[in-house]
Amino acid sequence: MYKITLIPGDGIGPDITAATKKVLEASGVRIEWDEVMAGEGAIGEFGTPLPAQVIESIKRNRIALKGPLTTPVGGGFRSVNVALRKELDLYVNLRPARTYEGIRSRYSGIDLVVVRENTEDLYAGVEHMVGEDAAESIKIITRKGSERICRFAFEYARKNNRRKVTAVHKANIMKCTDGLFLAVAADVARDFPDVEFEDRIVDNMCMQLVMKPELYDVLVMPNLYGDIISDLCAGLTGGLGVAPGANIGSDTAIFEPVHGSAPKYAGLDKVNPTAMILSSVMMLRHLGEDSAAQRLENALSAVIRKGKTVTYDLGGSATGREMAEAIIDEMSGF
Ligand code: NAD
Repeated sequence: MYKITLIPGDGIGPDITAATKKVLEASGVRIEWDEVMAGEGAIGEFGTPLPAQVIESIKRNRIALKGPLTTPVGGGFRSVNVALRKELDLYVNLRPARTYEGIRSRYSGIDLVVVRENTEDLYAGVEHMVGEDAAESIKIITRKGSERICRFAFEYARKNNRRKVTAVHKANIMKCTDGLFLAVAADVARDFPDVEFEDRIVDNMCMQLVMKPELYDVLVMPNLYGDIISDLCAGLTGGLGVAPGANIGSDTAIFEPVHGSAPKYAGLDKVNPTAMILSSVMMLRHLGEDSAAQRLENALSAVIRKGKTVTYDLGGSATGREMAEAIIDEMSGF
């Protein structure tokens, strides 16, 4: 029995969480959920979007499944997602992007994994005004931060039988910061002679991914490029409704869909639970429950391929709950 923190999230979060809980239950893996509230929903009850018990629960269980949380634009509270990553030092943002038959995409046969550094770069938030008419933001890249993310990428490649790691950077212009990242990536690569290593400048990488995505495999990069490239990869494979993700640290991990809380669909049980279900598949693999993960992924693929019981974004009219039930029916066949 696993004890796992569950954060249903805001907006569409509770709907996709309910669908995901159902399919996980049917996968046969026994989970005791430690359900806690964060985000907009927590403010009324706890006076803060990130109550202390959320952090305590994740630290205790070391593993969490999380729905999307709303972040107000402009003013209001700071992003709870960013706060969680910082507080728990979840330095890896892992975002696989693969095509599934039945999902409309311009490509087929894509199977990419973006490994994004999650704690440094321009996201460290060190920025200030210089007088009234200029602003500065400091890009922070460290040897330690670069080394641990590159090592994660190579270890992930080795463990998952992947052939190649591509480091993405702009070291031709940012010779100091991205230069350090690239030098560290090349150093780490020497410890993994069984995995091919190459590097690409980020602008060229964008073009290459759009023109020849099949040439790439595992991509590792600093935070900002990772943010942009991982959305590009989600676009290559069918969009946000099917993009899963994980934030991983040395002893803690949070699994969550890439998309946000889509407030206009809140409570309608209309949106696609696929991204959260695929995030839970990543969680099962992280726990070593590979066969349950594969059965769940196969059943989900079959439902999408058949295209009968799928949500609006995949061309159907099923609710999230109905899609979950169809996945459970399929699972008995695998
Ligand atoms: P969003 O991802 O919530 O929604 C954009 C659009 O994408 C939706 O209107 C919908 O058409 C579509 N969409 C998203 N998820 C879908 C799904 N599962 N099935 C079908 N269609 C889906 O992006 P947004 O509107 O920019 O952000 C809304 C809120 O979510 C903001 O407060 C933002 O800060 C937050 N957000 C949170 C996270 C997170 O918690 N990790 C990530 C991104 C955005």
